Amino acid sequence: MTALLEARGISRSYRLRRGILGGSVEVRAVDHVSLTIERGRTLGLVGESGCGKSTTGRLALGLEAPDSGEVRFDGAPMPSPNSAEWRRSRARMQMVFQDPLGALDRRLPIGAQVAEPLEIHGLDTTRVIPLLESVGLRRDHADRYPHELSGGQRQRAVLARALATDPAFLVCDEPISALDVSIQAQVMNLLTDIQAERGVGMLFISHDLRAVRQVSHRVAVMYLGRIVEEGEPDAVLHRPAHPYSRALVSAIPQPRRAGAKFAPRIVLQGDPPNPADRPSGCAFHPRCAFATEICRAVVPELAPRASDGRTVACHRADDDLPAEAWTKPLER
Ligand code: SF4
Ligand code: MG
Repeated sequence: MTALLEARGISRSYRLRRGILGGSVEVRAVDHVSLTIERGRTLGLVGESGCGKSTTGRLALGLEAPDSGEVRFDGAPMPSPNSAEWRRSRARMQMVFQDPLGALDRRLPIGAQVAEPLEIHGLDTTRVIPLLESVGLRRDHADRYPHELSGGQRQRAVLARALATDPAFLVCDEPISALDVSIQAQVMNLLTDIQAERGVGMLFISHDLRAVRQVSHRVAVMYLGRIVEEGEPDAVLHRPAHPYSRALVSAIPQPRRAGAKFAPRIVLQGDPPNPADRPSGCAFHPRCAFATEICRAVVPELAPRASDGRTVACHRADDDLPAEAWTKPLER
């Protein structure tokens, strides 16, 4: 069966104006990214802010076209942004953003906002109430305005609207990071339930690795526009192979167990990544404790490593890297 969504080697650059000196600089936000999302499955996309996760999400939805490479949705090429064909296919692809208040219209009651996509696509508007109920809101929420709801209720309303057209594919970009911690778990559970009931494929973008682990069937780690590791959540988030993934994972606070040994937290050394000034070779090399000559010169390809087939983009993926070296400061 064809994948629901497939991106093959997509890249996307932007021109950014340089400060007061004028001129502009080209920034490659997404660089040769390939990913596959199956029906009813979630791919978690993790990495620091600015690494290209959101741009990847917009490319996956066809909101923007890649400069090169191809996105295929349900076996066919993604229509170009804003074409009539794309607008038709929009019903099948929806996005849920971080900020539910920004995503909703302050001047319209919730019910009218959930009805909007139904009207646009010529669907039955009496579905508004069942939709609200399916995300845990009540009938009377339909008449309320966004500011009359809590943050968690607003995100539920956004989800109800996203689900109105019965989409096959959802991109959730940091859907819980604006919510109180106590509400986050509820929205996460709701996302899991929605997927189980409706079989939607999801791209779940987050810097919250615990949330990603809870919902994802596959996880991809992104660094400066490239995917550096991809695999099952247990493998990537418990036994990460790429030096950058290891640093990312080590920053998650671990639950304290009596007598348990703690994996040392790896503090990344060196400058935070700047997409406008991309290091040569492996973009992670200025911060990597294991960088060698080849790392500075040659971009490592994302490929299965010889020892166990884990998909990693690292020249030293098959080397036995010493655990204690992770916490040593870099010699610069
Ligand atoms: Fe570090 Fe080299 Fe691997 Fe990049 S390719 S992560 S610099 S060891
Ligand atoms: Mg983002």
